Amino acid sequence: MVEPVATSGGISPCCYQHAVTADAIFCGECGKPLLRCMAHEECGGLVGDDGCCNVCVRPQLYLDKDAVTEVKTGGVLVLPLVFYNASGVGRPLFITDVWVREGEGARRRIELPWKRLDAGGSNRLNVQTGALERQGRHGIEITFAAATNYFMREERFCFTSSLSLEVEQGGSLVINQTINSSGIGAGSDTVYAPIRLETQGETRKAAVGGKAAELGLQRADNFEAAQGIRGYTEGPLKGVVVSRGARIVWKGFGPDEAPSGPITTRDGIFAMGRGRSVRFGGDNQIQLLVTDTSGAIDEALSQAISRRHLELFIQSGRLCARVTGQSGVMIGDHKYGADDALAVIGNGDVIRLLPKYPDALTLQVRMRANYGSVEEITITRAPPMPASAVSDGAPR
Ligand SMILES: [Zn+2]
Ligand SMILES: [Zn+2]
Repeated sequence: MVEPVATSGGISPCCYQHAVTADAIFCGECGKPLLRCMAHEECGGLVGDDGCCNVCVRPQLYLDKDAVTEVKTGGVLVLPLVFYNASGVGRPLFITDVWVREGEGARRRIELPWKRLDAGGSNRLNVQTGALERQGRHGIEITFAAATNYFMREERFCFTSSLSLEVEQGGSLVINQTINSSGIGAGSDTVYAPIRLETQGETRKAAVGGKAAELGLQRADNFEAAQGIRGYTEGPLKGVVVSRGARIVWKGFGPDEAPSGPITTRDGIFAMGRGRSVRFGGDNQIQLLVTDTSGAIDEALSQAISRRHLELFIQSGRLCARVTGQSGVMIGDHKYGADDALAVIGNGDVIRLLPKYPDALTLQVRMRANYGSVEEITITRAPPMPASAVSDGAPR
């Protein structure tokens, strides 16, 4: 395991120290919940509400040294971009989309001849601008979507770099860039040294010692939600993103049976099924058994629930479920089985744990968005367990 950069992604070093303990769910020092990267076992990374692990996801963007300008003739500029994957844990990145926007114009999608970016590897992409004015400022924004995978899971993010091009009187071109304090690295503006492109004479080179110049990157969270890269893409939650740190409030369960809070497990998965809960030495976060309204367990129907029946997790800003139970589950009016891809769960969805006995045990999901973000999800069990019901933790 590689030592993560302690200050990455706004995660405090104290949280990393406490996350070493496998079953720790809160940082003993600052009290924040420990939200682990889906690949935590490999990367040791923690994530914030934005879900991005800075150990796994570390793209860098460079302007290569041979940027070609034809500014003198009022022509175009070719920006030779270099995408680099600086992940210290060998995790590949998949660059799925690149957009370029000039000034206040519309973003245009650039065709990518490649997609995979192995750790420590780089790929080039030439981006041509429109005609530059002889003098004055020219804004260019480069935005890209990057995906990271771990087993059957995937997180996607967008990053953006804002450049301001200025043609100097002598004809050379200066590229200025500032990352403002509202973005990553909050606290103060990050100012990068200007990149100067000499357009005089035979050799047109970026005057940065003949090296590629690094471009500053910011997370483009609004853009991610608008494009459906993260969050819901349809229905009333369209454009809404579930925070990775969203609290799940469980209702209709017995006392202490389902403690509310964000998902703080080691793999970011919240497992449910007939098997015992972690509290009683099992693997599930919640044990699901069929009961009647008095709380008496229906042993026969409960046997139809698999030991691990359903996994919940928050992925790319959506509440998702993977069905692992043999008898499948119904979500809305669709039946999902173990062979299905994951199910995206939205507000009002009812999860029926036993499709053959649709009302034997259900979980209803409610979530409400505040300024485009879901911070709390309520999951209500029906029929509810009576308040007096006490789980015996018996193996089943
Ligand atoms: Zn802490
Ligand atoms: Zn990670």
